[in-house]
Amino acid sequence: MKTGNKKKGITMKIIMLGAPGAGKGTQAKMIAEKYTIPHISTGDIFRANIKEGTELGNKAKEYMDQGLLVPDELVVNLVVDRLTWEDAKNGYVLDGFPRTIPQAEALTAALAEKGEKVDYAIDIDVPDQNIIDRMGGRRACVACGATYHIVNIPPKKEGFCDKCGAELILRDDDKPETVKKRLDVYHEQTQPLIDYYTAEGVLKEVDGTVDMMDVFNAIVQVLGA
Ligand code: ADP
Ligand code: AMP
Repeated sequence: MKTGNKKKGITMKIIMLGAPGAGKGTQAKMIAEKYTIPHISTGDIFRANIKEGTELGNKAKEYMDQGLLVPDELVVNLVVDRLTWEDAKNGYVLDGFPRTIPQAEALTAALAEKGEKVDYAIDIDVPDQNIIDRMGGRRACVACGATYHIVNIPPKKEGFCDKCGAELILRDDDKPETVKKRLDVYHEQTQPLIDYYTAEGVLKEVDGTVDMMDVFNAIVQVLGA
C-alpha cells in the first residue's frame, strides 16, 4: 500500500549507505514506491550518460570500469541540482550518494542553505564475502535498470527483464576483479560516512543479509510509517 508523504511539513530525505551490492538499489526502489518520493541513483545517472555517449558519461566510464569513484566535482553539482526538481520537494531516496566525506559535507551545506537536513541515513550491513557472491550473480536490465540475482532474486524468464522484457547483462564493474577493488574503495572512502551520519544523529543500521522483503520491513519500521 502506498503511504505517500504529502502531509504538510513532513519530508523524507533519505540516503542509503552500504557496500556496493548491499542492496541499496533494491531497497531504494521499494522505498520510493511506498512513500511516493523519487529514487535518485548516481550510478543509474552515470550509466544512462554512458549509454547516450555524453561527455559526462565518457568521463565517468573511465573511473567506473576500474572500480574507482568518479571525482567529487563530477558528482556533487549534478546531485545538488537534481534535488531542486519539483518531484523532490517532499523528499527523496538517494542511492549511491554521498560516497565520500567531501560529498557528504557538500550535501549538508547545500541542504543547510535551505534550512534542511538529511532525515535518515540507512546503512545496509552485509559482510564482504556475501557481497562477492551477490555481485557475480547480479544481472541488470539494459533498458530500465531493474536488477535481479540469478539465484536469490531470479527473473521469471532467464536472461530477460520482468518489467520491460529487455535483455539482462552482467555489469562491467561487477566482474570479480573489479568487485574486489570496489570493496577496497568502499572501506577506505565510503565507510567513514557511518561515523559522519552517526554524529549527525540520523544513522539507522539494518541487517542486509536476510531476505529482501525482511530488509524492507526493517527499513519501514525505522522510517516509522
Ligand atoms: P547496490 O545497489 O547496493 O549495489 P543491489 O540492490 O543492486 O545493490 O543488489 C545487489 C545484488 O544483490 C542484486 O543482484 C540484488 O538482486 C541482490 N540482492 C539485493 N537484496 C538482496 C537480499 N536481501 N538478499 C539476497 N540478494 C539480494
Ligand atoms: P552504483 O550503481 O551505485 O554501484 O555505482 C556504480 C559506479 O558509479 C561506482 O562504482 C562509481 O564508480 C560511480 N559512482 C556512483 N555514485 C558515485 C558517487 N556518489 N561518487 C563517486 N562515484 C560514484
